[in-house]
Amino acid sequence: MKFSILARDGSARRGQIQLERGIVETPIFMPIGTRGSVKTLERRDLDEMGAQIILANSYHLYLRPGIEFLEDYGGIHQFIKWDRPLLTDSGGYQVFSLSELNHIKEDGVYFRSHLDGSRHIFTPESNVTVQRAIGADIIMALDECQPWPVTRDYALDSLQRTTRWAERFLEAFNTSHPLYGQEQVPFAIVQGSVYDDLRAQSAEDLMELDFPGYAIGGLSVGEPKEDMYRITRQLGESLPQARPRYLMGVGTPLDIVESVAAGIDMFDCVIPTRNARNSTVFTRQGKLQIKAVRHSRERGPLDPECGCYTCRTYDRAHLRYLFHVNEFSAMRLATIHNLTYYLDLMQAIRESIASGVFEELRQQVTQAYREHDETG
Ligand SMILES: [Zn+2]
Repeated sequence: MKFSILARDGSARRGQIQLERGIVETPIFMPIGTRGSVKTLERRDLDEMGAQIILANSYHLYLRPGIEFLEDYGGIHQFIKWDRPLLTDSGGYQVFSLSELNHIKEDGVYFRSHLDGSRHIFTPESNVTVQRAIGADIIMALDECQPWPVTRDYALDSLQRTTRWAERFLEAFNTSHPLYGQEQVPFAIVQGSVYDDLRAQSAEDLMELDFPGYAIGGLSVGEPKEDMYRITRQLGESLPQARPRYLMGVGTPLDIVESVAAGIDMFDCVIPTRNARNSTVFTRQGKLQIKAVRHSRERGPLDPECGCYTCRTYDRAHLRYLFHVNEFSAMRLATIHNLTYYLDLMQAIRESIASGVFEELRQQVTQAYREHDETG
């Protein structure tokens, strides 16, 4: 992997991550395909909206279709017919949020499958094996995503364990090989909840391990926005300039411009896709609830400046109708639009950084989204 910064505007960076399966232009938003499939979409939809990299989840893929299956198939790219970059999370977050009876020990996290109750363990070492078998281009070190709120003592204890796990993860990574010939790149995850000094310590300890990329985890888990923005700005300053920074699970359009301003390069979030399925759409004028009665006779697209299939083809009135009569196509059409909006926003952000007018774009997005309920 090679990461180059092409332009800067304040702390915002426009860059490129060169991976063997293709170039990722940053700042980038990665659509979530938890099980290797972006909900309601097909491969050609992702092609049309210009998705450069997607995200899948190790916990889900490990349970189904299973590691043996994927290894036999030649990896996730072969299986889902996706030839561009893909990133896998370690699955740690899902172990805590989905699985039953999970508990942490020094060697790893023990859990029962949410599907059939079967017993499993993820150690940093076995997690490398899992992510090698999946074959993603960027893989995330196993960490403990701390919930919010946690006490300072717990946050400290947990981040120290996360650092020890990162070290073991890297060791297992360095002594193993990709199974399908394509390079894989490990990223470490900074934890420390909302405690500035603990975040600083986590970043410092992980930087000593010299990972090719760094992620910020444990934000957007219920803490106040000010905490999230403050921690992001702090880490934007202290994480190595020459490495990509990935803010996990964030966020709204407003969160994204604020975090780009702090020097973040990569994002993923369920907001555009989950909201689409709940009939909430994002436009350059802000968020709208397409099921609302005021759209019942409205002609014209969701967003006149959007070039997506949905906006090129259907009126707002028709989309509202599709949601009202529970047509499956409603969720799909709204997902196509929302993801196109997010990817276009990232494109506009990259262009604005390159031409030194990022601040203007940030103001526009802030104006469109500030007065809305931003919880998604
Ligand atoms: Zn559209």
